[in-house]
Amino acid sequence: MAEAHLCGVLRANGEPCAKTVRNGASTCWAHDPANAEHRKQNASIAAKAKASKSFEVVQVKDILMNLAADLRAGKVDRGDASVLSQIYGTVLRAFEQERRIKETEEYGERIKALEEAQKRRQGFSRV
Ligand SMILES: [Zn+2]
Repeated sequence: MAEAHLCGVLRANGEPCAKTVRNGASTCWAHDPANAEHRKQNASIAAKAKASKSFEVVQVKDILMNLAADLRAGKVDRGDASVLSQIYGTVLRAFEQERRIKETEEYGERIKALEEAQKRRQGFSRV
């Protein structure tokens, strides 16, 4: 079995990449130029997922605006409109909760990365 070695490609922050490289390859998956297209696709999938979340919020807002219009036009029962707006209000709060959880996770990861970079720079001398 061939020995695994580290990728070592310099990253944007100047640190060498510490991912292990598979047998026969010279860089890790993320730094292999052959995978540039895949990386672009992954990035666009992530961007689309984000965009679809805000699309869901827009959809719920549309539903609520239509519900209000229907109520004013007498097309929907007041009780039904009240219950529906409560449900959709809960859905919007769930979206907001989800967004906050994701945001907190992203900040946590960024802080961790910054702390690790700082530790490496200090050479663990002051830790
Ligand atoms: Zn790498």
